[in-house]
Amino acid sequence: MEYGEEIGIVIVGGGICGLATALALHRKGIKSLVLERSGTLRETGAAIRVRPNGWRALDQLGVASKLRQTALPIQRQRDIWLYRNKEETIEPQSEEARCLLRSDLVTAIAEGLPHGTIRFGCQVLSVQPDPLTSYPLIQLHNGSVIKAKILIGCDGAHSVVADFLGLKPPKLFVLWAVRGLTCYPSGHGLPTELTRFQGENFIIGRIPIDDKLVYWFVSNRGYPPDSNISKDPEFIREFTVESIKAFPEEMLDMVRRSDPEKLTLTHIRYRAPWDILLGKFRKGTVTVAGDAMHVMGPFVGQGGSAALEDAVVLARCLAQKLHQVDISAEGRQMRIIQNVIGEAIDQFVKERRMRLLKLSMQTYLLGSLRQSSSSIAKFATMALMMVLFRDPNAHTQYYCGDL
Ligand SMILES: Cc1cc2nc3c(=O)[nH]c(=O)nc-3n(C[C@H](O)[C@H](O)[C@H](O)COP(=O)(O)OP(=O)(O)OC[C@H]3O[C@@H](n4cnc5c(N)ncnc54)[C@H](O)[C@@H]3O)c2cc1C
Repeated sequence: MEYGEEIGIVIVGGGICGLATALALHRKGIKSLVLERSGTLRETGAAIRVRPNGWRALDQLGVASKLRQTALPIQRQRDIWLYRNKEETIEPQSEEARCLLRSDLVTAIAEGLPHGTIRFGCQVLSVQPDPLTSYPLIQLHNGSVIKAKILIGCDGAHSVVADFLGLKPPKLFVLWAVRGLTCYPSGHGLPTELTRFQGENFIIGRIPIDDKLVYWFVSNRGYPPDSNISKDPEFIREFTVESIKAFPEEMLDMVRRSDPEKLTLTHIRYRAPWDILLGKFRKGTVTVAGDAMHVMGPFVGQGGSAALEDAVVLARCLAQKLHQVDISAEGRQMRIIQNVIGEAIDQFVKERRMRLLKLSMQTYLLGSLRQSSSSIAKFATMALMMVLFRDPNAHTQYYCGDL
């Protein structure tokens, strides 16, 4: 394969993780190039809950103070079990949690990058090792090939870079989720809390973003309809309304009034905890981060924050090692450089593995609980969760460290 361009660090995917990794590297004085297949910044999923550990990572990236101005702090979490007539409130959240518009998040991160860092409309088709140097050769949809010294796959759950590493494809829960955004022009008047109405298999939640905007999500057991109709906003809205008929009228009204452009229907995926424990996340100078590494069910609202943590840790590990070498050097120096880069990536994987194992285990158990119809399986899962995750919110106390 003949290559046209040679670039130091290439990041595939300009979602939360890819942009955050580029920004973290930039703040350490390291240049990178982000290849994003979409024509513009993607904001799929409407909004995202960012918990205290995510804010610590955003502080390290230098964008937290800007983002704090865009969303209200969430004071508490209220769960209402409709079928048991029970209500539980976890309050007050002593640490910071907010729900951000995805567009605000990706824009704030992208604005911190030097001009030309993101190349839009650039889809990566495959990755192969260069037979001479073993550096990765990145094949693009337009036929061109880029040779990178370091390749970081932040290309989400269907990652071509994860395929190159030989990681197993993510698995599917028998669960789907719809996410949306509703604007109340005269104000919604809701408390600043995450409210979740729980049915037997169902969950519908809402979080105010500001005084007018409310982010909501619905999740249910089952397989979503086929992918063509599941992209049609009118269909998603009707499908959701039909699915939550038994829920309070205020929730139905919220879904009916939602912005059709922001509606998404997703089949929930995960990388199994044992694949996180045993996965080989480096091959030569190639690695993955974000959902490409550890896609997880959204039940604790941590996938995005974990991607931000990855960005900080990966940039720190690379920066610590890269100052020892000149990665543009060729010839006899090349093997030394590749070893140094390999050590940096290994350090990143080592630092992240246990953290990701715990998150993936907790979300796997929660997903198993939600998708199961057997009382015995539910009981066994709950017992295991009580043993392993006595404090179910302990994951928010994590700090990924300084950049
Ligand atoms: C229903 C649901 C609710 C969620 N809620 C929360 C929440 O409240 N809080 C939270 O923290 N997380 C949440 N998550 C998880 C969160 O959305 C993800 O963890 C996060 O978006 C991962 O970011 P990423 O950048 O790794 O991947 P992605 O967001 O998937 O970005 C990947 C990027 O790579 C690009 N790309 C893909 N393939 C290629 C290619 N071949 N070439 C070039 N570009 C490519 C894509 O266009 C995309 O821009 C939720 C997930 C779901 C499904």
